[in-house]
Amino acid sequence: MASLNTKVNASAPASKVAKAPFVASRSKAPGRQAIALISDHGDPAAEIGKEEAGGQNVYVRQVGEALANLGWQVDMFTRKVRSSDPSVVQHSPHCRTVRLVAGPEEFIPRDQLFDYMPEFVEAFQTFQSKEGTNYPLIHTNYWMSAWIGLQLRKESNIQLVHTYHSVGAVKYQSVPNRPAIAETRLSVEREILEQANCVVATSPQEEEILRTLVSEQGCIEVIPCGTDIENFSAIPKPEARAALGFAPDEAIVLYVGRFDPRKGIETLVRAFAQLKAGVDCQMASAGTSTSASTLCALNPDKLRLVIVGGSDPTQSDGSERERIGQLVREFGLANQTHFAGRIGHDLLPLYYTAADVCVIPSHYEPFGLVAIEAMACGTPVVASAVGGLNFSVAQEETGLLVPPHDTTAFARAIDRILTDEVWARKLRRQAPIRVQENFSWPGVATRLGNLYRCLLAQSISHEELWSPGQASSSAAATVAAAASASAVVTSKASTLTKAS
Ligand code: UDP
Repeated sequence: MASLNTKVNASAPASKVAKAPFVASRSKAPGRQAIALISDHGDPAAEIGKEEAGGQNVYVRQVGEALANLGWQVDMFTRKVRSSDPSVVQHSPHCRTVRLVAGPEEFIPRDQLFDYMPEFVEAFQTFQSKEGTNYPLIHTNYWMSAWIGLQLRKESNIQLVHTYHSVGAVKYQSVPNRPAIAETRLSVEREILEQANCVVATSPQEEEILRTLVSEQGCIEVIPCGTDIENFSAIPKPEARAALGFAPDEAIVLYVGRFDPRKGIETLVRAFAQLKAGVDCQMASAGTSTSASTLCALNPDKLRLVIVGGSDPTQSDGSERERIGQLVREFGLANQTHFAGRIGHDLLPLYYTAADVCVIPSHYEPFGLVAIEAMACGTPVVASAVGGLNFSVAQEETGLLVPPHDTTAFARAIDRILTDEVWARKLRRQAPIRVQENFSWPGVATRLGNLYRCLLAQSISHEELWSPGQASSSAAATVAAAASASAVVTSKASTLTKAS
């Protein structure tokens, strides 16, 4: 059984740990290479948009399904949080979610989950033995899964790939009181960067953060998050508004996401109040502002704020929902604000398309799937200039980036999009093109698949087949290298399997 005592052993060189010889996965699907994705708390089969169920769940599920479509056999492992939940959810013939029992079968906040990770490791190993499978490559998500991956690698010669989803060194900068688990997390996040075969950063900004705040050592490949461009695509706005019961002449400002103070919904509500009150207008007429104001141009009665996201009164998102509701009432915005609750990805395109602007006011955002979902639907975005949003939102081309927390900057940016119709139309045309070219799940999965193939081949041949930047190269050489690498894995793995 894995022990927590081993958890922060960043200095133990991987080569000194005794490992079982490489054993190829005995995939139940002939011709398919089995791989495992581990997502300790982000259940890929869960309902999205509620407490602790957001971007990570979507990422793992979509990457898993897209990799399966590309020919991999994908098992996605997560912790079981309800005894009534099925232990295995089959999403498609070659992609499933496996829920392992690790600790009580109930929701446990992330900050209290680490104690159950050794049980997760044990349950994973038991599952492998029962299935007769040994995953030669494991892609972990979030730092606790990284810890799991590091434990598994001590006992078996796996290739380890990791995606952070959130970097403690950044997150703790904007948190007034660090939780007790902070030191452990920071240590594991350093260890995984230095020891994983490759870390996937979802934006060049994240890569820079990892290099400056986490470690100068280790392999990093930038592969962005994606979105389902079949589902998230533009619908005629009048149709979307009619379907949702919104008036055709309203100016709709949309928020989509979880209720979490880090998401900055308060900034949006304050900005919306400013927009309604035409604060710039008053400041300009009082001679306190030198910049030309456009906020006067909006009809305050036609402004509508739509807030999409689920919450549970018994959990922390419930208290944030309550706090935001209170703020909306204090500003006298209740009649103009619509709390839509949790909305599934089937209906979300209607909300994005119905909106004139989608606002992402986060204080910190490692990637921010909502930005690319909105843009894919042709909706301009106003977002905080933080993390991955600096990468996904093209300034002045698909939306506007403004400093986080800056209420007035948000009000002005929203106002500009609502009032400059010709320019907004240009943004609406350009936004989906940017997403289609850079952020489709099949494109993301192809790049991840190239990375996996090279790492698997490398593990057999002991040659350096991978160098950072390769996943993004469409050069024939890369594809050829990956293809021949894959062939090497297949032939050498089968030899080893027979030998073992
Ligand atoms: N989401 C949803 N329904 C909701 C609210 C959010 O499906 O009611 C989804 C949203 O579409 C996106 C994800 O939750 O896919 C949020 O991901 P993001 O990266 O923006 O934020 P995170 O939750 O990871 O902080």
